[in-house]
Amino acid sequence: MTQKQRHIAVVGGGTAGWLAALMLRKAAPDKRAIRISVVESPNIPTVGVGEGSTAIFRQVLLDLELDEAEFIRDTGATLKFGIKHAGWRKDGKNYWGPIDDPNALRPAPPSIPSNWLHHARLAAGKPVADLHLFTMLMRQGKSGLAMDKDDTVPLSPYHHAYHFDQARLGRFLSGKATDIHHILTEVDGVEIDGETGDITGLVCVDRDAIEVDFVIDCTGFRRAIISEVGSRWRSYGDMLPLNKAMPFWLDHADPARIPNFTLAQAMGSGWMWGIPVQDRMGCGYVFSDAHISAEDAQSEIEKHLGMTVDVRRIINIDPGRLEEAWIGNCCALGLAQSFLEPLEATSIHGTLVQLILLIGSGLVDPRGNLTDAARQTYNGQVARQVDDFADFINMHYAGGRTDTGFWRDMTHSGIAAQQNAKLKKWQSAPLVPQDFAPFPGRLPHVEEQLYLPVLNGLGLLPKSPSKALVRDVGIRSSARKNADALQDEFRSAAAKAISHAVYLARTGT
Ligand SMILES: Cc1cc2nc3c(=O)[nH]c(=O)nc-3n(C[C@H](O)[C@H](O)[C@H](O)COP(=O)(O)OP(=O)(O)OC[C@H]3O[C@@H](n4cnc5c(N)ncnc54)[C@H](O)[C@@H]3O)c2cc1C
Repeated sequence: MTQKQRHIAVVGGGTAGWLAALMLRKAAPDKRAIRISVVESPNIPTVGVGEGSTAIFRQVLLDLELDEAEFIRDTGATLKFGIKHAGWRKDGKNYWGPIDDPNALRPAPPSIPSNWLHHARLAAGKPVADLHLFTMLMRQGKSGLAMDKDDTVPLSPYHHAYHFDQARLGRFLSGKATDIHHILTEVDGVEIDGETGDITGLVCVDRDAIEVDFVIDCTGFRRAIISEVGSRWRSYGDMLPLNKAMPFWLDHADPARIPNFTLAQAMGSGWMWGIPVQDRMGCGYVFSDAHISAEDAQSEIEKHLGMTVDVRRIINIDPGRLEEAWIGNCCALGLAQSFLEPLEATSIHGTLVQLILLIGSGLVDPRGNLTDAARQTYNGQVARQVDDFADFINMHYAGGRTDTGFWRDMTHSGIAAQQNAKLKKWQSAPLVPQDFAPFPGRLPHVEEQLYLPVLNGLGLLPKSPSKALVRDVGIRSSARKNADALQDEFRSAAAKAISHAVYLARTGT
């Protein structure tokens, strides 16, 4: 007997929707058993802001067998090696947040925490970011690749990330979705099976209902499908008070030297992003309207930049996540599932990790054996993921600024109790990988490799716990030698790397 083909409908044709469709298609072992559609409204725009990714995006690109140079050319992308944090400390000093991990290249001796090189640097009172290849590349405007005859070769095993134009990314991904049905219509409601509570059909404004076996809600802030099946929103407003985003674009100061990092510039009542794509800087002020009006926020930006800006619109943000991302036969992804202020580019990263988890739950298994247990496990993992992101972002505000009402509020009462407890612990104990429960499947997550450079950058990690950790003279000297040798290797790699501008030109842009 032939099995009925299952239909998975992805509703929404933004970044989340197309990534979901392509990843599910790739993962489906039996292409005849599962049909995948993207149902997209031609009248509802995507969120439409420039975006920074994390390194997992490159891994997914390669897994989907998409050509990197073509992707860069078609989406106007630039390389991203990390974030420059400006103005987050009370003394006004800046710091780098590189996304590579030097410890991964020099394993620690048994019984010593794997982030030993970072601790060697902390013990010596030196900035840990300086040990990173990616910091060198950001400072020098380099690419991380060298020329070998006519080809480029990577100078390290690390994946870089990207900045790209969101609208062009959507077009690029949809162009690659050759065996995915693309249905242009607006979904207006759902048909529900009275017995199981499952969604059986998508009611559309201008055509017959679409029968479905499983729905992925990627309708952005509208949450058009998951809200029909009783979803509840959990707000992080108490720890992440920024609730408005004011995007605008700038011309590049020097088109021949486009930055290879995201700028996160702290402002009086929030912070401003600077995301370089090839033909412009996508910028925006994310602010708390309890502390500044939109008019004053624009004036503050213009004063800071010394020029007028053309604000594109104001986006309302309700930082939070769904209590349950997956209800019955509907799972929400992307902005429909959660959104936090865009510091540290957690949104697309979260979507990609969630897709890997969803595929691991058996969604594209030809027999379609999705169990309640799998759903509950998935919901717990996703809740933990986004809660951890919120904690990490909250920690960025612990630099002690008190020069405006917003910063006084953040410093005096804005850091969450659980984050204060961690900070207190790390005053006397070293920050080690064991402080972070491993994420399922060892999928990339916010752990010590991200916390440590940020807290060191904010000046919040004292030397003494690191000194105690590398107390043994042999270990201390080995850690120092390994760190110095690695830094030398990275210096010579950075010297060989072609510039970011030359790399972009080679992609044919
Ligand atoms: C200010 C800001 C800055 C950001 N910066 C970053 C960043 O630097 N890094 C990062 O990782 N993320 C960032 N994000 C988040 C990122 O933009 C999203 O994760 C990503 O674009 C995915 O969006 P989406 O596909 O979920 O939603 P959207 O782009 O909003 O797409 C929604 C889709 O659903 C469709 N749709 C809606 N309703 C219906 C309906 N009823 N029927 C049919 N179709 C429907 C629309 O037509 C559209 O195609 C930022 C977000 C904001 C707001």
